[in-house]
Amino acid sequence: MTPANGRSPIYRPGFWGSLSEKECLEICLGAILTQNTNWENVCKALMRLKAARILDLEKLIKISPRKLQSLIRSSGYFRQKSRKIKIFVEAALSRGGSLKDWLSGPLEKVRGELLGLWGIGPETADSILLYAARRPVFVIDAYTSRISRRMGWMKNPEYSRLQEFFEASLSRKSFLYAEFHALLVALAKNHCRASPVCAGCPVLGFCAHGLKTRGDR
Ligand code: SF4
Repeated sequence: MTPANGRSPIYRPGFWGSLSEKECLEICLGAILTQNTNWENVCKALMRLKAARILDLEKLIKISPRKLQSLIRSSGYFRQKSRKIKIFVEAALSRGGSLKDWLSGPLEKVRGELLGLWGIGPETADSILLYAARRPVFVIDAYTSRISRRMGWMKNPEYSRLQEFFEASLSRKSFLYAEFHALLVALAKNHCRASPVCAGCPVLGFCAHGLKTRGDR
């Protein structure tokens, strides 16, 4: 997940440069807005926020909830998400007003603070830590769980256990976590869909489900 840079936010393989405060905020908002919707809808909301020139903590805290809701409407659940954004922004402002400074604090402490905010669960908190703060935290999402189950890595993947599994298996590097996660998402979209398309899957030879079905479907 990378900032919009004037267009829609996109995944840019290999890009892991440092972020401005504004880019960091944009990624945090994207992590909240993407709850229960697809990334295309999130992009539309982010582009509207950009066009309205309110990608700024001070401006976001001042904007009326109704106006914020209208700007992020495309992302769905816009009333809840508007409240979540306000709470997140308030938390950042109460900690000095620099997202980058706040998120670069002691990892467990910051993760706990994020999880303590209404509307921020483990996936959102970890997306913020990995993509906005470049912290080495592996993000678990529905795609990761599905692939892990089918590959035979874990039968009933529970968030923290699966996260521990990935973090213990990979070198502790935020860039590697982001790339690996992006590859899992690509695999889930291209092959390991709700109904898996195993024929031609690049990891067929390593996958418990794929080997069992021999890529018949
Ligand atoms: S072989 Fe099939 S089940 Fe296994 S990862 Fe690929 S698409 Fe998913």
